[in-house]
This record gives sequence, structure tokens and C-alpha cells, in this order.
Amino acid sequence: FQTAPIYADAKPLAGVKGTFSERTFIAVKPDGVHRGLVGKVIQRFEERGYKLVGLKQVVPSRDMTEEHYADLKKKPFFKGLVDYMSQGPVVAMVWEGKDVIRQGRAMIGATNPLESAPGTIRGQYCISVGRNIIHGSDSFESAEKEIGLWFGKAGELVDWTQSGAEWVQS
Ligand code: ADP
Repeated sequence: FQTAPIYADAKPLAGVKGTFSERTFIAVKPDGVHRGLVGKVIQRFEERGYKLVGLKQVVPSRDMTEEHYADLKKKPFFKGLVDYMSQGPVVAMVWEGKDVIRQGRAMIGATNPLESAPGTIRGQYCISVGRNIIHGSDSFESAEKEIGLWFGKAGELVDWTQSGAEWVQS
């Protein structure tokens, strides 16, 4: 994992001197949506102290899904992965806060549920790598690419100051 200090769009958190936030792309995949796990995922990020700055439900096109998973194009499971994701719906989110990219990955757990620690999202809710319910950016570069791909630059993200942020982040 690359540990650059701040996400490209980072800014000082309102009211909290000297700290920076970063953003990550999180998506509940079609199996997570069908199984009614959207609320559980949102609840975990909210309770951890992260701030939701983007949220929408979409059925991604095959092109979009292939672009999202472009680095896996040569994998034998690529076509199945695109079939799975592009049937939708996907609930796409952007979460903001201290270390949210790395923490998001830790909260999600390992790609293969056999290795996802109990208590992580995958470790609690799934058993199969091909149906692992959630995606989270794994680096600053992928967060930047994925937020741009799923939310574009059309002002779909909301900059807002969370009441009580100083009790979460110092
Ligand atoms: P992650 O989603 O944890 O970042 P990867 O980027 O390696 O993991 O893989 C992307 C997605 O591809 C996984 O979340 C999973 O849905 C799917 N996938 C990965 N490996 C396999 C596999 N061996 N068989 C089927 N699907 C897989």
C-alpha cells in the first residue's frame, strides 16, 4: 500500500488545525445490494467516524466495469467478474476522513473470504471470492481513478462540514 500523506484533493478539515482528510471509493456490489447489506456497510463507515460525501445507485455498463477492473483484464475470472458487476445494481459511495483508504481496506477484509478476518465486512458477510459483496480502493491512485470514473467531476460529491468533527479527528 502506498502511504502518500494526503489524497490529491485533500484539504484541512474544517475546525481541526493541521489535519488532512482523504477520500476513498467504496461500492456495495450487486450481491451485497440483493442481500440487503447496504445499510450495514454504511453504518460501519459512519460509526467508525467517516463522512459520506457521495452516494448513488447505478447499473454500470460493461465498458465502465471493464475500465474499473482494467488491471485484471488478463485474469481468467475477468469475464465472470464483469458479468457479476455489470448486472447491478451497485451502490457507489465516496467516504472521507483520516486514513480512510487504508482503514477502508482493513474494514473490508481480504479479497478471499477464506482469509478475511472475522469481524471484517467480508469476514462477516460472505464466503466466496466471486461474491464478496464490496469493493474499496486499494491506493491513492486507484481512489483518484475510481472516484473520477464513478462520480466524474460534475459536482456529484458534497463538501460539507460534519458537526462535531473535532471529536473524531485531531
Ligand atoms: P479487491 O476487490 O480485494 O481489491 P482484486 O482487485 O484482486 O481484489 O479483485 C477484484 C475482484 O475480483 C474481487 O473483489 C473479486 O470480486 C474478484 N476476484 C478476485 N479473485 C477472484 C477469483 N480467483 N475468482 C473469482 N473472482 C475473483
